[in-house]
Amino acid sequence: MTDCLFCRMVAGEIPADVVHETERTLAFRDINPQAPTHVLVIPKDHHATAGLLVGAEPQLLAEVVAAAHAVAVQEGLATAEAPEPGYRLVFNSGPQAGQTVHHVHGHVLGGRDLTWPPG
Ligand code: 5GP
Ligand code: ZN
Repeated sequence: MTDCLFCRMVAGEIPADVVHETERTLAFRDINPQAPTHVLVIPKDHHATAGLLVGAEPQLLAEVVAAAHAVAVQEGLATAEAPEPGYRLVFNSGPQAGQTVHHVHGHVLGGRDLTWPPG
């Protein structure tokens, strides 16, 4: 059994509020949302960071980004034509970025005005 939280969600061992799924990706609501929409998008296979994933399987990172955009459309944050009203896709990588779960995940954030730069 893996001790990776997100691998265990993929395996169905820990419940997840799934909003989108493809053969190789899963998207579920963050347990501690920082915006009206806060969804995490992951590859089902374990890779620690986006940088490691793009080195190992670039097509899979593209599928994660495509799934994130599909979630944004589904949540009313974008259309096929335009990023309106808009959303943010964030990959925290490493300790200074605050990464706490070491299975790559894109945060899809939206539904309110987002400040830049983030804290
Ligand atoms: P990171 O800080 O690694 O970029 O993001 C990890 C995210 O995972 C955080 O936003 C945190 O709220 C979320 N998270 C941690 N544990 C769980 C959990 O058990 N379920 C869900 N849905 N999200 C979680
Ligand atoms: Zn994992």
